[in-house]
Amino acid sequence: MTKRIEVGLLGATGMVGQQFIKQLAGHPWFDLTWLAASERSEGKRYADAAPWRLDTPIPAGLADRTVESATPGRGPKLVFSALDANVAGELEQAFADAGHFIVSNSRNHRMDPAVPLLVPEVNAEHLALLRAQARRRANGGAIVTNPNCSTVVLTMALAPLRAFGLRSCLVTTMQAVSGAGYPGVPSMDILGNVIPFIGGEEEKIETETRKILGALAGETVDFHPVKVSAATNRVPVIDGHTEAVSVAFDAKPTAADIRAAIEGFQGAPQRLGLPTAPNPPLVYTDLPNRPQPRFDALLGRGMTVSVGRLRPCSVLDWKFVTLGHNTVRGAAGAAVLNAELMLAQGWLE
Ligand code: NAP
Repeated sequence: MTKRIEVGLLGATGMVGQQFIKQLAGHPWFDLTWLAASERSEGKRYADAAPWRLDTPIPAGLADRTVESATPGRGPKLVFSALDANVAGELEQAFADAGHFIVSNSRNHRMDPAVPLLVPEVNAEHLALLRAQARRRANGGAIVTNPNCSTVVLTMALAPLRAFGLRSCLVTTMQAVSGAGYPGVPSMDILGNVIPFIGGEEEKIETETRKILGALAGETVDFHPVKVSAATNRVPVIDGHTEAVSVAFDAKPTAADIRAAIEGFQGAPQRLGLPTAPNPPLVYTDLPNRPQPRFDALLGRGMTVSVGRLRPCSVLDWKFVTLGHNTVRGAAGAAVLNAELMLAQGWLE
């Protein structure tokens, strides 16, 4: 890539917004030149609007930048969105209608038939849905989304297993508190505790997974027929969603077949050598008590998904544990990789 391009960020002051800032600091293709958030933050120094909450230092020069209002038409053409889902639906739509290319984390537009719900290693070809959006807006505005933070981890682990005919899948999640944004879940609720409910999360995992694993048919996606049942839990972990998964297959793969499929998995980001593509995208660990969020969430700078504990399941066929970093692979890092793929494939021209 010879020319750097300017990018903006909606929701720059939130949990995912800060992770975006970290991911974009020193990025070889993107210059983050515009930061926007709500009226509460507008006009403030970034450091006053949003105390830095990540465990790496605040990128140089960021603290004194001014937070702008989230006004469509302002900011660069390419805008990442980490907006609160309560406002993302209308605001992202307004930005796209004003000609911006929105690369979003929020749930609001994920299931729109014309919006790619992208995991670049799994369904890069779904970007063809953008042709349907181009007919809606003549000005080049568009929306591309990444999945819910648990769904990304699950679809990465299931993608190489599609070859064996995924029939049904049970998934129980153990999700980190950073997944609830800042300040998120009160400490009195989560310390020394497990909360067996995350509003809307089970439905998202059950539907988004089938769209992502689905086949492109012209300018629509035929959802994958796999049946997914999810049970979601909030646990006292800072970062990293862990998932216990059982799967039934049409074919009857051996453990060696499954492991070879996971370890050999590569997607468009690896083939194209995209700047933040993890290599490998999936890692299988033999250690009997891994993956664990404390040790494995930051593999591949938070972009690699871990799998382990593959063993027979007495109800379905096989079961395993998978884990990924929810604000990197499950949010900001996912969106940055989406934008890299779109730029590399010419969708942003
Ligand atoms: P968060 O910490 O609550 O941050 C929300 C952001 O939205 C803040 O920057 C906030 O600005 C901004 N905002 C709120 N109302 C606004 C308005 N009316 N106009 C403009 N900006 C407004 O939430 P988060 O955890 O970062 O999540 C952001 C999005 O990513 C959500 O849609 C979430 O569902 C999704 N997501 C989160 C994760 C995760 O692991 N956390 C993973 C995947 C997807 P102020 O600071 O000015 O209020």
